[in-house]
Amino acid sequence: MAIEVVVPMLGITIEKGKILKWLKSEGDFVKKGEPIFEVETDKVVTEVESPGTGILKKILVPENMEVPVLTVVAIITEKGEELPEKYRVAPTILPSQPIPPVPPKLTAPPNPVMYVRPPEGGYDIAILGAGPGGYVAAIRAAQLGARVLLVEKGELGGTCLNCGCIPTKSFLSDLKIYQKVKHSDLFVHGSKVSIDLKKMVSRKNKIVETMKRGVSMLLESQKVTLIKGFGRFIDPNTIEVSSGGRKKIHKTKNVVIATGSQITSIPTVKIDGRRILSSDDVLNLKEIPKNILIIGGGVIGVEFATIFNCLGAKVTILEMLPQIISTEGEEVIRGLKILLEKQGIEILTQSKVLNASPKKEKVEVTVEREGRQDKLSAEKVLMAVGRIPNTEGLNLERIGVQMEGKFIKVNSRMETDVDGIYAIGDVIGKMMLAHVASAEGIVAVENVMGKVHEMDYHKVPNCIYTFPEVASVGLKESEAKQKGYEIQVGKFPYLHNGKALAMGEVDGFVKIIAEKELGQILGVHILGEHATDLIGECLLAMNVEASIEDLGGVIKGHPTLSEIITEAALDWSSMAIHQPLKI
Ligand code: NAD
Repeated sequence: MAIEVVVPMLGITIEKGKILKWLKSEGDFVKKGEPIFEVETDKVVTEVESPGTGILKKILVPENMEVPVLTVVAIITEKGEELPEKYRVAPTILPSQPIPPVPPKLTAPPNPVMYVRPPEGGYDIAILGAGPGGYVAAIRAAQLGARVLLVEKGELGGTCLNCGCIPTKSFLSDLKIYQKVKHSDLFVHGSKVSIDLKKMVSRKNKIVETMKRGVSMLLESQKVTLIKGFGRFIDPNTIEVSSGGRKKIHKTKNVVIATGSQITSIPTVKIDGRRILSSDDVLNLKEIPKNILIIGGGVIGVEFATIFNCLGAKVTILEMLPQIISTEGEEVIRGLKILLEKQGIEILTQSKVLNASPKKEKVEVTVEREGRQDKLSAEKVLMAVGRIPNTEGLNLERIGVQMEGKFIKVNSRMETDVDGIYAIGDVIGKMMLAHVASAEGIVAVENVMGKVHEMDYHKVPNCIYTFPEVASVGLKESEAKQKGYEIQVGKFPYLHNGKALAMGEVDGFVKIIAEKELGQILGVHILGEHATDLIGECLLAMNVEASIEDLGGVIKGHPTLSEIITEAALDWSSMAIHQPLKI
């Protein structure tokens, strides 16, 4: 069937575009996603990708002609297919004709490759990678007046937006409702409740698309030049971007490397996307496995254990360390383990996976436990044993960027050993978290733009999205003691909070560790509903160096979960109102 090629809408205010150059000729074979023409608007020059695969049968609008956006400019047909009747006449829109108004419809361009004409003397900052590190850095740099080039080989938003934080939050939100309804006799009277996996995936896709459009518009509004392609160093001030077999050179005064990370496996196990899955594979799942072994009880392991368990799969987590989520505080680890097991998730710690071999109907996994080797099997295996940085092909050795193991070495200003080259996010591996990448990106470009800014990792929250959630910041109790602090702990359970009771979310607690004499807040650990949101006020308190008494003195709305924070802070001095007297 014939496919219409149109001039895409490249922004809310862009109404027309001039065909600058056809990159393909009539009769050429074109592949979906391949750039086929360049269009110029009053804001950008853009390569437009082919919306389909086939023969470029007819070019309807010649070069240098300006047309309204959404005008059909060419037709792609299948091999041997005739040009449809209605396109056999010459185009009727001439350059001199007035441009008819375009309906105010907000649609995303079909994956455009954008670039404003390169500024005289090159860019101030080129950023490699448009994940939460790179795109945030680009926006802040533009806000500070820099001419910014942003290079992305894949999708805007990186892992976080396309196959990490956001997609999983969409799933967890659906599954929370599903769990509530399924386990409540208020809504279900005999008939079975089930979840529509296809719709769940499609809702997730819509959210991701909406957010990508949002990022694209933000970048456009800040006049950031975005180029789709793989960027690599020619020298510290020259970036080569390759896309669809074509290469372009861009000059820049500074570069921020924000290329992120990718999933890794254990050396003996190959992720095949069929039986042995990565977290990327499961985001577009078509069917729910009866059972699944999750290798790794870190943040990804427990989050996906929650997802699969809610979907009805029998889940087993295999973790080689004595604990799951081993970076969290003791009480939180213990509490979460109990709650996950109560939900039906099996957790085998001190269980090191040695290998996994896919068979016809299942995967067989060899696990070393208590000095012996056991064989376990399941329909699917999910590999969740960490991520490795994306540095291959960047030509880092050519420009002399120093490494620290697999990661790029930087100082607290995000500077590498090479003048004008900065690195941020997963590629430096300090804390592989989206919000850390964004913060590091801001530090990097503010330093480029003459502000002195250093990254402080002490007040960064950890967030784990299980049912219930986990969030923490600062020191654990044992760490505070080791550092020589004399401490006092304030603690308050969800069970004593009216809102938590009303919500039916009574599992968990807030624990605040503070220095005994002055009440300096050293660490906060939350296990419970909305923990990842509740930690926010504790972060602010720690950032402005408020004392635990300041935190306890806030008048909270009632009933709210945030009252749990106040009560935990008050408990530090045994003054929590809804806490029985400790004997
Ligand atoms: P992780 O490092 O958090 O956990 C991996 C776990 O796998 C560890 O506990 C490790 O002991 C275990 N493991 C390794 N080899 C094993 C083996 N052979 N057998 C059994 N267990 C084994 O890594 P992750 O969970 O894959 O997450 C990757 C990165 O992405 C992390 O840096 C994480 O911070 C980030 N991330 C964060 C979030 C979040 O903040 N919510 C979500 C997703 C990913």
